[in-house]
Amino acid sequence: MRDRLRVDPGTEVVLADIDPRSTPGVGSRKKAERQMADRQARLAELQEPLYAERSRSLLVVLQGTDTSGKDGTIKHVIGGMNPQGCRILGFKAPTKEELRHHFLWRIKRQLPDPGLVGIFNRSHYEDVLVVKVHGLVTEETVDRRYGEINRFEQKVVDGGTTVVKVCLLISKEEQRERLLARLEDPTKRWKFNPADLDDRDRWDEFQAAYQTALNRCSTEAAPWYVIPADRKWYRNWAVAEILVETLEEMDPQYPQPDLDIDALRARLAAG
Ligand code: AMP
Ligand code: MG
Repeated sequence: MRDRLRVDPGTEVVLADIDPRSTPGVGSRKKAERQMADRQARLAELQEPLYAERSRSLLVVLQGTDTSGKDGTIKHVIGGMNPQGCRILGFKAPTKEELRHHFLWRIKRQLPDPGLVGIFNRSHYEDVLVVKVHGLVTEETVDRRYGEINRFEQKVVDGGTTVVKVCLLISKEEQRERLLARLEDPTKRWKFNPADLDDRDRWDEFQAAYQTALNRCSTEAAPWYVIPADRKWYRNWAVAEILVETLEEMDPQYPQPDLDIDALRARLAAG
């Protein structure tokens, strides 16, 4: 799945050419849902030795417009892992203190420690997305940031963290449905932020900003994956699949400490 959904460095992704309703790589919803339990178990199985190793980390960066399903992905995909080994961080508009620092300052502080799976619900990419669309810094500054991000992520990878960046792609129609559902359902209304409609008014500008970020910042070290996300079952299945493939490639191993097992067993047997 990684090969299918990756934005290959050096090629140009065109978001308008990707159908958010498509389901590449899976035969049917039934099949995907049947595989899902197995994928979740596999994720948990792979996370355990990563945690035990305490030497490497996995960082999952989740991006996508409002209602694209970042929260749902965390619940349904990450939720299958051991919470003790996960660090989930959401990045909102920066505080006054954060604004006094370089945009990567707050990100660096939240990188996962060895052994952990870090999940960023939004990330440093907001600094070339919402910040760009709203013109919060100059164009030159945004332009410089792509390179800064690439160099930063390369360092993170060199330090022993595998970086997987996931962009959830929904259609404007699907967003309307999901925002309407938030209005209709009293249990979802708390999620409705009228300001989201201002961003929706700038849909095309956001798509363009996403496209630029994906093209400029999908690197060998830290690739981007674009997930067609109008269908939640497909989104969950595809993200789980990408994480399983990534962890399998990392191939974490349980440490085998040098213990005198016979002597320790004898001590235990003695009471
Ligand atoms: P939500 O993810 O719906 O809780 O909303 C978080 C909000 O914070 C979104 O509207 C983001 O665009 C905004 N946000 C996150 N990071 C930044 C940033 N660096 N600069 C400005 N706004 C941001
Ligand atoms: Mg929001």
